[in-house]
Amino acid sequence: MVDLELDAVRKSYGGAAALSEVSLSIRDGEFFTLVGPSGCGKTTTLRLVAGLETPTDGVVRFGGENVSDTPTEDRDVGLVFQNYALFPHMNVRENVAYGLKFREPPAGATVEERVSDLLSMVDLAGMGGRDPDELSGGQQQRVALARALAPEPRVLLLDEPMSALDARLREQLRRSVKEIQQTLGVTTLYVTHDQEEALAVSDRVAVMNGGRVEQVGTPQDVYHRPETEFVATFVGDNNVFEGEVVASRDESTVVRVADARFELPPSAASTGDSVRFCVRPEQFSAVEAASGASGAATPNRLTVEVETTEFLGEATRLYCRWAGRRVVARRQTVPEADRLELGFEPAAATLL
Ligand code: ATP
Repeated sequence: MVDLELDAVRKSYGGAAALSEVSLSIRDGEFFTLVGPSGCGKTTTLRLVAGLETPTDGVVRFGGENVSDTPTEDRDVGLVFQNYALFPHMNVRENVAYGLKFREPPAGATVEERVSDLLSMVDLAGMGGRDPDELSGGQQQRVALARALAPEPRVLLLDEPMSALDARLREQLRRSVKEIQQTLGVTTLYVTHDQEEALAVSDRVAVMNGGRVEQVGTPQDVYHRPETEFVATFVGDNNVFEGEVVASRDESTVVRVADARFELPPSAASTGDSVRFCVRPEQFSAVEAASGASGAATPNRLTVEVETTEFLGEATRLYCRWAGRRVVARRQTVPEADRLELGFEPAAATLL
């Protein structure tokens, strides 16, 4: 196992920058995810780590060693891609054993034992004799994972391995991948455009946009403490408000939006500044409930018009209108009235 570093890496194709300048430090044994919209540079970053591309500038290091010019086969990486890429003329066992073609199985094990162990690990014990076309998409990806892990790679690289699967299979497979990764402790770089998946599986994530890294942090960091508006809105639902600072105190920042004044956490902003802040849908409470419970009134109130509701099972998403803006809230129950008074605590807001 090994830590992994990208140091001021740039990549251009014919003068067009795919990666502007990316620096990342991924810890030994970490499950690290690159997440971002299509074209933001996730796959390019992964390919640079795999050795399938060389950087235009900058350095890639494994365990402190510069591997920027080391070919893929000498980097000791396991790769799993979106399209299963199993060998169609080989059965499951042969596909997994292929992962050991250029490397000895771990000490004390025969190839047969190693393949059996791996097939059990990915829940495919007993399916070794099947051909790839006799497996579901999810099972094929499990075989691809077993094949990638067979030689005990130092780094596991996964590029959208679940995007061709339906929602339920995706959830099952991502749980398996996470469990296997934890058991083996292999340093893992995972690429996905699905922010929910990124939050669910990762120790840390890098949110990418336009060939740059916008923020690196734990799932909780990027969800609750977004540093940019892009991160605030890409990761989960969010409401971004723009207003003018009317008071900046030690204990709070007061911001006017339309006719309302909101008390927000203290900040470096000065009176008269234009600021943006965000509030997550689940941070809105119905005012009656909040003030009834604590006896104290919620300071920040908005009377919204409910336009549409979406029943999500565990909650209901409300699309509302307030002062000419859309506000998304989340409630446990579907409100009966079209007008609703919502409130949020100052600490629930994040100034961007
Ligand atoms: P997606 O989620 O759609 O796969 P991504 O975030 O993985 O997107 P990349 O595939 O890394 O994005 O692409 C980043 C940018 O680099 C894009 O603008 C893409 O068009 C460009 N690019 C990637 N590979 C090449 C290439 N071989 N030649 C030219 N341009 C490329």
